[in-house]
Amino acid sequence: KSFRDLGVVDQLADACAALGWKAPSSIQVDSIPLALAGRDMIGLAQTGSGKTGAFAIPILQALLEKPQALFACILSPTRELAIQIAEQFEALGSGIGVKCAVVVGGVDMMAQSIALAKRPHIVVGTPGRLVDHLTNTKGFSLRTIKYLVLDEADRLLNLDFEAEIDEILKVIPKDRKTYLFSATMTSKVAKLQRACLRNPAKVEV
Ligand code: AMP
Repeated sequence: KSFRDLGVVDQLADACAALGWKAPSSIQVDSIPLALAGRDMIGLAQTGSGKTGAFAIPILQALLEKPQALFACILSPTRELAIQIAEQFEALGSGIGVKCAVVVGGVDMMAQSIALAKRPHIVVGTPGRLVDHLTNTKGFSLRTIKYLVLDEADRLLNLDFEAEIDEILKVIPKDRKTYLFSATMTSKVAKLQRACLRNPAKVEV
């Protein structure tokens, strides 16, 4: 199958080709049509499976249809993963002018506040720092978010980000789409899934 066969528009299929992605990976084959059909998703997949593309492509396609600032929020357990996710969004979205902001701990808040003030389409962050910005960065809110991704949910929970995730869930609209990816399905992940996904489709590699 090709990306176009999955319903991916030409602009994004071309971006995949430009990255050297000759065909969708198996998690992408399963998840992209479901996501494009508007389903919430839970994906059991490891890093290396192409899971980032599996959620980034449908989000970018929805953004193309209805461009809007602060469109998607991606929660990552670590700064390294957050940076990698933003790089994939930017690479896939380079032809369509997608702006991302990365908000992670361990670096100065000010540069991130300035990036958020520019009203990016996509915010990728670690939960603690994102909550810091919700509290301290004037004018920044997640009230317009249409897509929420919880990436590596098992690690998010192992790192005790539960309270921060709850804070974030309180300020993100209920009528959003949610994608949860995890390498393992633990009871904590199942609980998080019940708290924030609606009738999710399950995909596994
Ligand atoms: P991920 O599992 O999302 O961390 O992706 C792992 C690596 O696979 C990244 O370097 C991606 O650029 C790459 N990748 C993602 N999807 C594809 C694909 N369909 N074909 C080839 N490489 C891919």
